[in-house]
Amino acid sequence: MDFHLSPEEEKFRGEVRAFLDENLPVTDIKRWLRNVREKRWVGFSWPEEVGGGGGQIMQQVILKEEMAKRKAPPLGTDMMGLAWVGPSIIQYGTEEQKRRFIPEILDSKYHWCTGYSEPGSGSDLASLQCKGVLEGDEYVVNGQKIWTSLAPFAKWMILLVRTDFETKVKHQGITCLLVDMKTPGIEVRPIKTMAGTSFFAEVFFNDVRVPADHRLGAEGQGWQVTISALASERSSIAEVEALQRKLEQVKELARGARKNGRAVLEDAGLRRRLARIETKIEAMRLNGMRFLTKQLKGDPLGSETSINKLHRAELEVEFGEVALELLGGASPYVKGSEAAVDGGRWQATALSWPEVVIGGGTPNIQKNIIAERILRLPKD
Ligand SMILES: Cc1cc2nc3c(=O)[nH]c(=O)nc-3n(C[C@H](O)[C@H](O)[C@H](O)COP(=O)(O)OP(=O)(O)OC[C@H]3O[C@@H](n4cnc5c(N)ncnc54)[C@H](O)[C@@H]3O)c2cc1C
Repeated sequence: MDFHLSPEEEKFRGEVRAFLDENLPVTDIKRWLRNVREKRWVGFSWPEEVGGGGGQIMQQVILKEEMAKRKAPPLGTDMMGLAWVGPSIIQYGTEEQKRRFIPEILDSKYHWCTGYSEPGSGSDLASLQCKGVLEGDEYVVNGQKIWTSLAPFAKWMILLVRTDFETKVKHQGITCLLVDMKTPGIEVRPIKTMAGTSFFAEVFFNDVRVPADHRLGAEGQGWQVTISALASERSSIAEVEALQRKLEQVKELARGARKNGRAVLEDAGLRRRLARIETKIEAMRLNGMRFLTKQLKGDPLGSETSINKLHRAELEVEFGEVALELLGGASPYVKGSEAAVDGGRWQATALSWPEVVIGGGTPNIQKNIIAERILRLPKD
């Protein structure tokens, strides 16, 4: 690893810092989004011909680092569009699909949602049964998706359907469609989470007609499209800064907390726990550097992103648990209660663990990926 910055990269860091000095704190989010779009920082590494920034990976890292340090708002509001739908369309889409969707994703015109999981197909995604049958120039879709984040608000969905029920290889015969959520026959039923939010939903498809030119990639190529999308979801460059900030906040909480008349920081067990968290975040940072080295050599990211997905899941759970212990008698008071500490943010952290632990693949599945594809351990 050699991360000494070149003079051009140092110059770029200076440019980012100057921009952030000028634009932070953000008082008008629309203006912020317009300004970062004008800088061509949205879709930073996407090709210029589709409207992206055509930027280098190292510059993108610098941008993310500086933004995270200064707690800048994100570069867009359509998180799924920017994180994996856009890159998938750039890689597999037709010219018409790129012209149609990429500018709208870059402008965060609306939200995308991801229709992969089904009631019987989560970890074993390739067993999905939602059916797509080509009739003339349309696919007729019937079936159900579940846990679809943002489905109650999204305008478009990236959807996986089975188009071949004869194949013996379950990863084959899956096709990816881009679906307008207003198409007749789609029913969205929001699911309430234990944190009280309703950001995800069950989605039912009843004879939903999707134009065949909204197929992403070839028929039967849906699995490949998904694998590259999920690798984008599990990469983690910006997360380390956010986790370090959260650790500082937990330490702050610990500094003010007392138990049985004594400062909790006198407790060696707690100090060890905080040290373990810090060590894990540092391991994530170093792993991030390894991933970056690979990308700088021109190799795509793959299974290794599961390592940081696993670390992050463990860390977020630990943050919630430590914080609630530190709050002691104040721990039951959630957002909205006058007695809530820090506006109930730690309760929200503690109740939102499924998002980071289960969403995007469970810890068991990440361990399987690491064991089989990185450590090459036998399956049985
Ligand atoms: C907050 C949240 C947001 C989500 N957002 C989306 C979304 O936007 N779009 C979408 O498509 N999906 C979404 N999901 C679904 C998520 O991807 C699945 O819940 C996840 O992949 C697990 O699938 P499952 O729920 O069917 O559990 P299962 O696959 O039934 O797993 C149940 C348990 O068995 C274990 N297990 C299963 N198979 C194995 C195995 N081979 N080896 C070892 N252990 C195994 C799992 O680890 C788990 O503990 C979301 C989930 C959550 C919680």
